[in-house]
Amino acid sequence: MPTEQPLKYKRILLKISGEALAGQQKYGIESEMLKLFAEEVVNVRNLGVEVALVIGGGNIHRGVAGAIKGTDRATSDYMGMLATLINSLAMQDALEKLGLNTRVLSAIEVRGVAEPYIRRRAVRHLEKGRVIIFAAGTGNPYFTTDTGAALRANEIHAEVILKATKVDGIFTEDPVKNPNAQKFDQLTYIEVLNNKNIKVMDSTAISLCMDNNLDIVVFNLFKHGNIERVVRGEHIGTLVTNRQIH
Ligand code: UDP
Repeated sequence: MPTEQPLKYKRILLKISGEALAGQQKYGIESEMLKLFAEEVVNVRNLGVEVALVIGGGNIHRGVAGAIKGTDRATSDYMGMLATLINSLAMQDALEKLGLNTRVLSAIEVRGVAEPYIRRRAVRHLEKGRVIIFAAGTGNPYFTTDTGAALRANEIHAEVILKATKVDGIFTEDPVKNPNAQKFDQLTYIEVLNNKNIKVMDSTAISLCMDNNLDIVVFNLFKHGNIERVVRGEHIGTLVTNRQIH
């Protein structure tokens, strides 16, 4: 029997935007999307990979947009953070329906609904094979869930952030608008920060990863098996790293 290749990553943090959960409807949660993503998580869990998730809240509420309409920015951001909690509970339900053990850990205390985020507890859950979902971002206004993802990934010593998108990686331009856009295989954090056409993650999130040498793989979550490909070491999507370009 051929021997299995060792996995490249054993502990990952997967970041999914709120919009992805909305599917075609662009707002709210589409149950088909939840199921689709949950199945991808089950695949890698079954390989023994420890999985942490961060889900955005843009399908329900986006802080800056609310603030522009007249709500105080901080208040609007707290509404956004609570939106991520709703998405996290929906994802928890979808994962548990597929037989996984999960915990939602919230940066804002909502006793009775989710555990408060305690770093050591999060790591313990991972070691016990539970999928953890970090809700409420960083718990602070003026941040994003991408930054929350970068922060938590560093805290739990995840080996990589998998940033899910609906296209195949980072491109020279938006590939939906320009089909001739070229995909980058690998970029440095500085290249991402300096290129105004690249809006894959906000600069705070990218900087946090850069300062702590945490690789980011930007990939298409809508292609079945892609998370598994990444953890097995296949080069898909775009790798953002400080390592030498080969
Ligand atoms: N948010 C925040 N602090 C955080 C994380 C999120 O204030 O640490 C708020 C912010 O208003 C943001 C909203 O929650 O617009 C939803 O998060 P995000 O826009 O990152 O979601 P995504 O784009 O991934 O769906």
